[in-house]
Amino acid sequence: MVTFSLAVRPLVSRLHCQLVRQAAGSHRVTPVRRCNLTACSSKYVLSHVHPMWQGPLVVPGGDRQSPIDIAVRRSVLDSNLKPLETSYDPKTCQQIWNNGYSFLVEYDDTADRNTLKGGPLQDTYRLCQFHFHWGESNDWGSEHTVDRQLFPAELHLVHWNSDQFSLFEEAVMEDNGLAVIGVFLKVGKRHEGLQKLVDALPAIRHKESVVEFNHFDPACLLPANTEDYWTYHGSLTTPPLTESVTWIVMKQHIEVSHDQLAVFRSLLFTSAEEEVQKSMVNNFRVQQPLRGRTVRSSFSPFLQGAPSARGSKHSC
Ligand SMILES: [Zn+2]
Repeated sequence: MVTFSLAVRPLVSRLHCQLVRQAAGSHRVTPVRRCNLTACSSKYVLSHVHPMWQGPLVVPGGDRQSPIDIAVRRSVLDSNLKPLETSYDPKTCQQIWNNGYSFLVEYDDTADRNTLKGGPLQDTYRLCQFHFHWGESNDWGSEHTVDRQLFPAELHLVHWNSDQFSLFEEAVMEDNGLAVIGVFLKVGKRHEGLQKLVDALPAIRHKESVVEFNHFDPACLLPANTEDYWTYHGSLTTPPLTESVTWIVMKQHIEVSHDQLAVFRSLLFTSAEEEVQKSMVNNFRVQQPLRGRTVRSSFSPFLQGAPSARGSKHSC
């Protein structure tokens, strides 16, 4: 077990790290990701399952787990949903950290300097970190899917409710404690804003490595259109899997280049001391059942094609 330099790390990082450690047990389970790709065979999943998913989970899943498939025609337009209001201060960016499952770009969250409000939210939420999930190829990697469509990667901007709580650690355990913005990544042209981050990744190749990282504006990773989104009540997709998250999943994706994603994949799940090095890929959770939840949309999904199915319950 490696001892971390706690002094340089925000509380959120410590919690995240502990959780990853707690979840790494010896009892292997076989999650099966519902997937429309032949590449996602059970053999593939078995051979690549991350240690975090091999042990009994600290908090067993309830009825509001994430991620889910967003069935566009079953989502319900909610005209009361407001536009999102984000206000981020690039100067509060502190560090980038390989936690052995993803890399986290962490922000000073001791004051309301990076806030999210509006949308489906009643309160003000404070950004603490963002991270990504990605696949070993461009054919899969996102946690959420849209009509079963997989994306190569997914960005999560994690915010906690600073109106009702004083720490991330309190908010993570409670209803309406967290608000996470999800953004899908597609492969296309190089993303200029992301490149500064990509350039820093070789310095945190191994698990538990951390470097200073300053002046990064998370707003540059949002799509041009943030008015169109889906929202639902769900959970964290890493332990403790608490059902404290208001998910806000952007309809519009952002584009990154294959080379930029290749640098993500050059990271390692493993620390420098470990004999067998493992590439950091396929760091997504398997999809979870909707269990009667409603996915609301801020836009009408039927203006571009299926006008009669609005709000209906029939399967697509
Ligand atoms: Zn995530």
